Amino acid sequence: MVTSLPPRLEIRDIVKSFGARRVVDDVSLSVMPGQVTCLLGPSGCGKSTTLRIIAGVEMQDSGTIHLDGRLVCDTVTRVPPEGRGIGLMFQDFALFPHLTVARNVAFGLTGDRAARARRVDELLEKVNLSGYGDKHPHQLSGGEQQRVALARALAPRPRLMLMDEPFSGLDNRLRDGIRDTTLAVLKEEGAAVLLVTHEPDEAMRMADEIALMRDGRIVQQGSPYNVYTRPADRAAAAFFSDVN
Ligand code: ADP
Ligand code: MG
Repeated sequence: MVTSLPPRLEIRDIVKSFGARRVVDDVSLSVMPGQVTCLLGPSGCGKSTTLRIIAGVEMQDSGTIHLDGRLVCDTVTRVPPEGRGIGLMFQDFALFPHLTVARNVAFGLTGDRAARARRVDELLEKVNLSGYGDKHPHQLSGGEQQRVALARALAPRPRLMLMDEPFSGLDNRLRDGIRDTTLAVLKEEGAAVLLVTHEPDEAMRMADEIALMRDGRIVQQGSPYNVYTRPADRAAAAFFSDVN
């Protein structure tokens, strides 16, 4: 008998309206263990709302969410956000300014002191910030703060990482480098990731799988190569036309 792992995340037929407007319109997608799936689409198409529903901070009108095959949310069941084992990284998800870098990274950790300290050291090394543990966030550059935020989100080994435009606050010069470092760390940690972006470049660079979203719907899903070379329609082709 062949058994295969269930997707790390599977959402099915998610619908969400605000007033009369259907912002998420029957969205289904999955993220496999160890993979980065990009939810890519223009501003206002419903990406962040979808992510907030998965995180559990927004409730869908209908549809289901499974993590590792376990139902975490439908219209009857609702596992609270903190019970979902999800790590979050948002553009403006700030570090705690009054805590040192090490304490920021340790924030979500439990267990004994020595184990927590080892995990903090391990992550600071992975994000190339060994020796920064005693500094405070204001002493760090934007890119360094972003790497601390990544270490903090990964520290408790979340089952799934949700990242909403995490690089859009950074200046262009830094962005490619930080994307590469982030991707390397995510892969080393074996994280499953749903990354939201409106930039085709970013999706092409980081994704194992791209789900292209428009007006609340997924219009195409596939490998970056397939989505780029065989766009579903003219609008999809136009959206990718300025990837370099
Ligand atoms: P994206 O992240 O793709 O830019 P969003 O999910 O943030 O898109 O928003 C999709 C649409 O839903 C937008 O038109 C936005 O104005 C609207 N919207 C988002 N949140 C709310 C809300 N709480 N109340 C009303 N409208 C909202
Ligand atoms: Mg958004």
